[in-house]
Amino acid sequence: MEQVKRYAFEGEVIEVPVYWDDRLQRYAEDYRDYIQQPVYTPGGRLILLTIEDACPYADPADCPGGIDCGACRHYHQFPGSQLGVCSNEKRRRPGKQRGAAGTRKEEPT
Ligand code: SF4
Repeated sequence: MEQVKRYAFEGEVIEVPVYWDDRLQRYAEDYRDYIQQPVYTPGGRLILLTIEDACPYADPADCPGGIDCGACRHYHQFPGSQLGVCSNEKRRRPGKQRGAAGTRKEEPT
């Protein structure tokens, strides 16, 4: 049976596989390459490692010119994990953005 850790973000439960790390002598999360193989929440939010290079849509919090997702206001890190969720609408899975069929429409500006 596969072991997983569960995190919740905006009412969505995300399961991350864990494995026994002989070197650390404890369970560790299975950090895959989230850039090459993107993983989304059921609502279409990107799941990323905190150390991923910032994308062009980054909004650096305390670190102007921030270099990773962890320094971006759109990033919500799971406590006790190196993983988090990007809440930037521009990075949401295609077809899941606001205004897409079956989703909420974008507010006029
Ligand atoms: S958290 Fe989202 S918007 Fe911010 S740098 Fe990462 S991918 Fe880009």
